[in-house]
Amino acid sequence: MTQCDLLIRGSAVMTDFQTIREGTDIAIEGDRILEVRPHGEETYQAGTVIEGKDRLFLPGFIDSHMHTGQQLLKGLVLDAKPVIWTRVMLPFESSLTPEKMRLSAGLAALEMIKCGTTGFVESGGYFMDEAAAVYGESGLRGRLSCSTMDEPGLPASIAMDGAEAVARADELYRNWHGKGNLKVYYSLRALNSCSDELIAMTAEHAAQRGAVLQAHMNEYQGEVDGMVARTGVRPYVYLERMGVLSERFLGAHSLLLSEEERELIKLRDSRLCHCPFSNCGKAVPETLELLEQGTVPGFGSDGAAHGGLSLWGEMRIFRSLMNAVYGVPRRNSRIMPAETLFRMMFEGGALALDEAGTCGRIKAGCLADLISIRLDEPRLMPTGNLLHTLFECGEPGDVQDVIAGGRVLMRNREVLCLDEERILAEARAYQKRAAGQ
Ligand SMILES: [Zn+2]
Repeated sequence: MTQCDLLIRGSAVMTDFQTIREGTDIAIEGDRILEVRPHGEETYQAGTVIEGKDRLFLPGFIDSHMHTGQQLLKGLVLDAKPVIWTRVMLPFESSLTPEKMRLSAGLAALEMIKCGTTGFVESGGYFMDEAAAVYGESGLRGRLSCSTMDEPGLPASIAMDGAEAVARADELYRNWHGKGNLKVYYSLRALNSCSDELIAMTAEHAAQRGAVLQAHMNEYQGEVDGMVARTGVRPYVYLERMGVLSERFLGAHSLLLSEEERELIKLRDSRLCHCPFSNCGKAVPETLELLEQGTVPGFGSDGAAHGGLSLWGEMRIFRSLMNAVYGVPRRNSRIMPAETLFRMMFEGGALALDEAGTCGRIKAGCLADLISIRLDEPRLMPTGNLLHTLFECGEPGDVQDVIAGGRVLMRNREVLCLDEERILAEARAYQKRAAGQ
C-alpha cells in the first residue's frame, strides 16, 4: 500500500479540456496529483477519501481577470450610463478602506469557491495586503497586484506619482510573492492611465523579478484612439516599441486588435483573456484568428460588478456571441465547440496563472486544483454527451467539492477554509449601512 494524503475513488474524471474517463481514482500527495488510474484494486492508503460515485471531477475553473475592489459594487453597474469606469468604478475604488477590502476579498473568495473557481488573477487593487491575507487563508491559487496608474486628476485618496505606485507594487511583491498559493504580478491599470515613464518603470521592475506584467488592453475604442493620438501607434504596437511585450505579459480584454497587433501577440507569445459579459458592451473579440495563430485566451469575470464571479455563464455568453457573430453568417455550427471553450478555460487560464502545463488538467505531477460536480441532477442527466451537457447546463450550484493545492476548500458545498457565516453577516451589515438604514 502506498500512502497519500487524499484519494478520490471511482469517479468520472475530466482529465483535460476534452477527455472524460469513467471509474477513475485520483491520488493526491501534498499539493500535487500523484497518480490518475482506473479504479480497481486498492493500492493507496489515504488520510482522506472522497467517494466519486455520481460525481465528475474536473480541473478547477480559472478566472483570468477579476477585481476584488469591485466586489461591493454588485447591482450598481447594470444599465449604468457609460463610461462606467470613470462614472462608477473609479469613484467607488477611491472610497475603499482596509476593512472594505477585507470584506471584499472574503466575499470574492467565497463566491469563487462556490462557483468552482480554484485560481484567479486579481487585476490590480488598493489595500492589497488586506486582500492577500484573506486570499492566503482561503487556499485559492491567487495572482495579486496593485492598481498602478499616474494619470492627472485622480481622486486624492488614490492619486500617486509613478515612483510611489511602483514602490507599492514592489512592497506587495516582497510581502506575498510565493507565500502559500499566492504570487504577485505587476500591473498597469490601462495604458491611457499611465505615463510612458510609469509603463517603463513598472515593466522594468517586473522583468527584474521575473514577474508577470498585466494590463487592461484594447478594451474601449476611445482608449485605442487615445493611444494612437498620444503615441502614433495602437496599444500593442506601442508596448512592442517600449520593449514591454513578452511571454510574461498578460493583456486583459484584448478586443479591437489590428492584424499587426495580433501578429505581435503571436511573435512575443503574450497571454490574453476575454471577459465576455463585460465585453459585450464594448466589442466582439477576434478569437477565431487568435486561436488559429496559436494564441489561447483565457476567460475572466472582470469582477463581481459585471454579473458576478461565476465563469459558467461567461463561457456560455462567449459561445453564444461567437455563434451569432461568426458561426451563423458562415453557416458553421462548430465555430466554437465545447472542447475549445474548455481549452480556453483551462489552458488559457493556466497561462494567465503562469502555470502552463502544471494547472488546468488532472494528470500525475500537476497541481491538485480540481472540483467535483454532482451528476445525479435532473439538469445533467441523462446525456448523450457529458462534455456538452456540462457546458450547456452546468451551474455553480452543481459544484460539490473544491480542492486547491491538494487542500480541500469545500466539501459537499460546505466551505471549510473561511468562516462563511461571519463574512455573510458582515456583508449584510455593509448592505444596511450602504442603504442608510
Ligand atoms: Zn478589468
